[in-house]
Amino acid sequence: MGELETGKQLRVRETPIPGFLVIDLPVHGDNRGWFKENWQREKQLALGVPDFGPVQNNISFNAQPGVTRGIHAEPWDKYISVASGRVFGAWVDLREGDSFGATFTIEIDPSVAVFVPRGVGNAFQALEPDTAYTYLVNDHWSAEAQGEYTFLNLADPTAAIDWPIPLAQAELSDKDRAHPQLADVTPMAPRKTLVLGVNGQVGRALRQQWAGRTDVEFAGRDRIDLARPDTLESIRWSTYGTVVNAAAHTAVDAAETPEGRVDAWAVNAAAPARLAALAAQHGLTLVHISSDYVFDGSRPQHDETERFSPLGVYGQSKAAGDLAVSVASRHYVIRTSWVVGEGKNFIATMASLAERGIAPSVVGDQVGRLAFASEIARAIDHLLAVDAPHGTYNVSNAGEPASWAEIAKRVFERAGHESGRVTPVTTAEYYRGKADIAPRPPHSSLDLGRLEATGFAPRDQFEMLDEYVDSLASGA
Ligand code: NDP
Repeated sequence: MGELETGKQLRVRETPIPGFLVIDLPVHGDNRGWFKENWQREKQLALGVPDFGPVQNNISFNAQPGVTRGIHAEPWDKYISVASGRVFGAWVDLREGDSFGATFTIEIDPSVAVFVPRGVGNAFQALEPDTAYTYLVNDHWSAEAQGEYTFLNLADPTAAIDWPIPLAQAELSDKDRAHPQLADVTPMAPRKTLVLGVNGQVGRALRQQWAGRTDVEFAGRDRIDLARPDTLESIRWSTYGTVVNAAAHTAVDAAETPEGRVDAWAVNAAAPARLAALAAQHGLTLVHISSDYVFDGSRPQHDETERFSPLGVYGQSKAAGDLAVSVASRHYVIRTSWVVGEGKNFIATMASLAERGIAPSVVGDQVGRLAFASEIARAIDHLLAVDAPHGTYNVSNAGEPASWAEIAKRVFERAGHESGRVTPVTTAEYYRGKADIAPRPPHSSLDLGRLEATGFAPRDQFEMLDEYVDSLASGA
């Protein structure tokens, strides 16, 4: 029998398998036996073990040395040690990617634990009688989940695991004997990304940004209706790693009506709260889109620390959604303004008025910056790709803030028309006599410093405006 080492320092080591960690555990021995903190979230997080959120603890008891199990790659993370005895552990990376096939082995006694990321094939061989092998997992076992396992043969010649007890003398199940060789294994795909609200301006831009990505799924209201929470419950969330919520009740004036108020709160506040709870439960990264309307616009520029001061129902419901989402530990609140995307938008409307010889009155006392939907999609992609610190990020185009009237003039000019046809008016004049009009913040410009600090350079709003007007003219 191996001698159990007591008095180790808690230490975490990396291995050739990315994300697979070996943890040295302090074991305290005395005349009665020994004691260890097998999993201690706070201390281990500080040393780099992921906050993997275990939900199930399993123990496999192995009566005889030579019992060998595996190689199983499971669709969840695992944290393994032994409570008594000793095993030889072997792991083969079966995830898609460059590290596919990477192998690592180590003996585990009660003073050693390992963290096995989802998709890494796991096997062990008991080396002592009465070995109690214990592990935590962060999803509940189900027959459905078992259908997502990936297997590798214990005797695979590429992995070439040097079993201390030759497999010919070991105790194996018939099922484990039948697993395929590495060349025939289908690698486990990463957890997918789910995008909600894919028919809106930002949703369409995300479809373009991630076109061809097999790990991204796009859902419209027909599949997930945020006003109907039951449609959220039918999703198998553990197969997803990231949810991007681009759906919202965006009719700011309709939100001021009795029915609109109910809808706005259901979609913009209650649904994000449910998404945040699901994100916490399943370890999802939640990306949610927020609005400059969470502020009253009294400051000329808004940074991410400004306190909420929404004027109307839409802004109030969006602020509530932001607060709910911020409770999910892995969240990105993307705060944007004045979105220009596919379909009906301010620029296309102005270009059309210019062509048709109309001389519009346009609001001149609301100042901000455009956010082309493609820039928002590019920023979301960037923040996820660089694994930026979680939190709120302002996202819009860069450049000098301008009023809607100034933007309209620029559209007229670029389209080859007289910009003098645009008459700036005040917001009060523009909406005079109209009922159920939501109050608008006078200043919508967002401070982009935090986004830029992640290495993202937002493009100038007028540069993109010009390109867009040109594309409208050419029918592109
Ligand atoms: P759009 O109005 O273009 O799109 C909103 C999408 O949400 C639509 O596709 C709509 O679906 C979907 N939706 C509405 N209700 C539901 C529901 N009950 N269930 C599922 N989907 C629903 O909005 P944008 O793309 O412009 O907005 C994206 C985000 O940006 C939103 O969070 C918005 O608050 C925010 N934002 C927008 C600004 C703007 O100027 N537009 C400014 C600042 C922030 P359907 O197509 O079926 O109607």
